[in-house]
Amino acid sequence: MSETSTPGPGHLQLKHHYLGLDPASLKQSLANHLAYTVAKDPLTATERDWFTVTAHALRDRLIERWMETTRTYYRRDAKRVYYLSMEFLLGRALTNSALNMGVHDECCQVLAELGLSLEAIRETESDAALGNGGLGRLAACLLDSMATLRLPGYGYGIRYEYGMFNQHIRDGWQVEHPENWLRYGNPWEFPRPEVLYPVQFGGRVVEYTDAAGRFTSRWVDAETVMAMAYDTPIPGFGTNTVNNLRLWTAKSSRELDLRYFNEGDYIQAVADKNSSENLSRVLYPNDATICGRELRLKQEYFFVAATVQDILRRYLSAHADLRGLPEKVAIHLNDTHPALAIAELMRLLLDQHQLDWAAAWEITVATFSYTNHTLLPEALETWPAPMLERLLPRHLAIIHEINRRFLEQVRHRHPGDMERLRRVSLVAEGDPKRVRMAHLAIVGSHAVNGVAELHSQLLRERVFADFEALYPGRITNITNGITQRRWINQANPALAQVLNAYIGRGWVSDLDRLGELEALADDHAFQAAFAAAKHSNKQRLAGLIRQHLGQEVDPESLFDVQVKRIHEYKRQLLNVLQIITRYNRIRRHPETGWVPRTVIIAGKAAPGYRLAKLIIKLVNDVADVVNNDPAVSDRLRVVFIPNYDVTTAADIIPAADLSEQISTAGTEASGTGNMKLALNGAVTLGTLDGANIEIRAAVGAENFIEFGLDVERAAALAGGGHDPSALAAADGELLEVLEMIGGGYFSPGAPERFRPLLARLLEEGDPYLVLADYRAYLEAQERADVEFRQAQRWNRMAILNVARMGRFSSDRTVREYAERIWGVAPAPHD
Ligand SMILES: *Cc1c(COP(=O)(O)O)cnc(C)c1O
Repeated sequence: MSETSTPGPGHLQLKHHYLGLDPASLKQSLANHLAYTVAKDPLTATERDWFTVTAHALRDRLIERWMETTRTYYRRDAKRVYYLSMEFLLGRALTNSALNMGVHDECCQVLAELGLSLEAIRETESDAALGNGGLGRLAACLLDSMATLRLPGYGYGIRYEYGMFNQHIRDGWQVEHPENWLRYGNPWEFPRPEVLYPVQFGGRVVEYTDAAGRFTSRWVDAETVMAMAYDTPIPGFGTNTVNNLRLWTAKSSRELDLRYFNEGDYIQAVADKNSSENLSRVLYPNDATICGRELRLKQEYFFVAATVQDILRRYLSAHADLRGLPEKVAIHLNDTHPALAIAELMRLLLDQHQLDWAAAWEITVATFSYTNHTLLPEALETWPAPMLERLLPRHLAIIHEINRRFLEQVRHRHPGDMERLRRVSLVAEGDPKRVRMAHLAIVGSHAVNGVAELHSQLLRERVFADFEALYPGRITNITNGITQRRWINQANPALAQVLNAYIGRGWVSDLDRLGELEALADDHAFQAAFAAAKHSNKQRLAGLIRQHLGQEVDPESLFDVQVKRIHEYKRQLLNVLQIITRYNRIRRHPETGWVPRTVIIAGKAAPGYRLAKLIIKLVNDVADVVNNDPAVSDRLRVVFIPNYDVTTAADIIPAADLSEQISTAGTEASGTGNMKLALNGAVTLGTLDGANIEIRAAVGAENFIEFGLDVERAAALAGGGHDPSALAAADGELLEVLEMIGGGYFSPGAPERFRPLLARLLEEGDPYLVLADYRAYLEAQERADVEFRQAQRWNRMAILNVARMGRFSSDRTVREYAERIWGVAPAPHD
């Protein structure tokens, strides 16, 4: 049967008949969607309607390429990589889609002809904030790079109905508001009611001998929740490749409903339907700490159970033998949150497909890889064995068997070393016993990576040293990156224009091309254009601060930026101590030629993290005093910008002069905010931590302001023999600052307010070494002032930062994953 003579759905294929990308075609699409999608007259259409209309015009063009991409992957039988992440911090999609498809200017033109502006209508789009911070944003950057590199990469995650909370500031305190981001609908997602999988919880394991005489286990009497898919197209830049992000939503199972209907309790059936649908209701808002709630464990399993079924369905639609799985499938675990996928794949291979243990295990290890994201012990995920036993009895049994075989190997290698067995076991002793998800992920993966050189080294030497000895070479490094499509092309059009004018547009898909700026670092015209772009970004941010916060800041002042989650290890508190010190110095010596500064701080605290929330209050209380003191007037301003998310990041980062990356050495795995800021021409003031070290090496030590304890000295101090009270007593300025905070200078009427912060520093051992780094930090800030005063010199430093940041593109990161870990290759169709 020839294809052409066969009637059928194949005839509907749209290949090579893509809708036009020219202004006239776009305009026609807008008119059609206004009428047929939103059913509005131009006279009554709101800006949100126009957003919906523009989004639909773009997505039509995405859909064509998306379907063609999917077909290409099938036709080529390409090896796919599945990126499993509990978080995707995508932000808005409108401008990103227009830019990546190369129709941004055309959209602007067509909208202008209609009396509208893309700038205005894009403001009505909600951020897709399905993540907490760096980990979720990394996942979003990697998706962009996979599509741009035309790699067969699929994102898998959860479609939370409520994403990251909205942060309001009331009386200086953080207040959390639920973020109903789907309220007005989401034009970028496609519900797939037919892509539906059962996910089971509870029940028990029965063991029996099957007809072939095999000893077999089966999981029975479990309750069922259904996982339904929503798909979002992910466009690459300058390519027709459009990949898929598949997010799962929980639906009640029909069987469950029926059972209740038979008992006649209709109301109970409907109420229970809601309770199973709670699974995908809300993102847990914790960053760098684990949350041991049962609902969270259920989310993790719900997500991986649906995903692994979907992956196997796709594989088995084209292949019969599961032994070939690792040749066609790579599954990547973004942190341990999806690590149950290892046990789930084992379960399906053993119980459903009847493979023997050795074959199933070989397939599993060859398929999985895992990225570790943290060095903080409190962030390493463990689950109580009794909770697993209750919810996932078969998985716990499989994990015990993985552990038994693993410990057997260890015992063989290191006879009599009981201490080592205890350290590496997947199950931590104690009451209750706990399953260590990182150990499961390491043992069940063929490759494990850290996210910056220092981080990977510390994983090998400290956190996972026993595993490095058992599996030499398994732990490797792949330094994080960021996509220049979002973080320059979209976020910083002023800089993008200067780059395009001087070195062409090649940098958008090849960030190493920024190296061509080296030759221009001393070119006066270029310097002026570069400085003008930065200045216009600072003016824009000053305008937003005026508009939203009613505060005046001076675009001529040094914009000193610390934007990231609020956490003790990131040391916003150190920044505050410095601000207060500066305030005291200015008041004492008003005549000195101070470099005017605007300190900008933004970030969310986990709702249950008391100290982090108190730090936000302290920033705001200090800002109140400083900003209202005529004695410092225009020399120091402090602004806390509420609700840090991808959109506010894109407003703030292009305007930064100074990038504060001041975590205690050995605590920040990589950081990516540090990369965004340096790439946008901010000079880093930072510790030798995470990727700061590699940024410093890349941009040159003379273009980076370094300070503080290195990882060895920090570990030595934190390990003991360090007396923070003595440090404070010996430093007059520091003592004064601490006394002001403790004496109610910033909290008149509530002198006790900040006691817990002072107790942390002076009585609880100052675990993040704020006081130990205080003096070095002040000196680094003075160096920053000296450099900034020489405008020409500062501008040159900023230019060289941009010129040398090419390596931190997530394109480089993804290429390394593809070649060294996943074994996937580009599968273009254009
Ligand atoms: C990049 C980014 C982060 C990560 O910032 P770090 O400074 O690396 O912690 C967090 N949140 C948002 C919204 C981001 O864009």
